[in-house]
Amino acid sequence: MITTILAALLAAIHLAIQSTVPAVDPSDVFQRPLSSWAPHCLGFGSQWRYCNGVALRACPSGSVWLHTGIDVVARAGEPVAAAGDGTMVGYSIDPQFRGGVLIRHRTTFGVVITQYWHVWRAAGFDVGSNVKRGQVFATVADMGTRTHFHFAVFKGDLESHAWNGALPPSSCSGFPAFPYRFVDPNGFLEAHH
Ligand SMILES: [Zn+2]
Repeated sequence: MITTILAALLAAIHLAIQSTVPAVDPSDVFQRPLSSWAPHCLGFGSQWRYCNGVALRACPSGSVWLHTGIDVVARAGEPVAAAGDGTMVGYSIDPQFRGGVLIRHRTTFGVVITQYWHVWRAAGFDVGSNVKRGQVFATVADMGTRTHFHFAVFKGDLESHAWNGALPPSSCSGFPAFPYRFVDPNGFLEAHH
């Protein structure tokens, strides 16, 4: 009798513990866009310079802009997957940086945009395409010895600054100060995987 009551009590406690673990909404889950994730020259907040140290952009004051994302070692043609479920809201081609893609994600904690640079969109994907987390939508562009992949996370909705691969340390030339709405991509991925 006592053991039966005890067993029932333990089962009730077990259920109570299980029900306190919240179910994760699939729209809140993110993953790395590449299968390998070795850091390239620049991290989040690094001064925006080529690997050889030459600065890419500075304010009129001379202060070097800061990198809004992380650079990852990659080979040309490597598949790039969507970090989460979302919609392609931007595709832009820059002669220096090749293709850039923005994907908009609706999460339970607000709109997030993931930014991918130095990529070419894959056939069948363009602005307006819906993507699932892990779906390959692009490939890494060939930039010769400078080939790498750039990934950033923007906590906000689509606007011109969501495209920025770097921002000034303090507002200049019409650009807001780093980090603006960008967050450390590795910290974001760890918090929402
Ligand atoms: Zn970069």
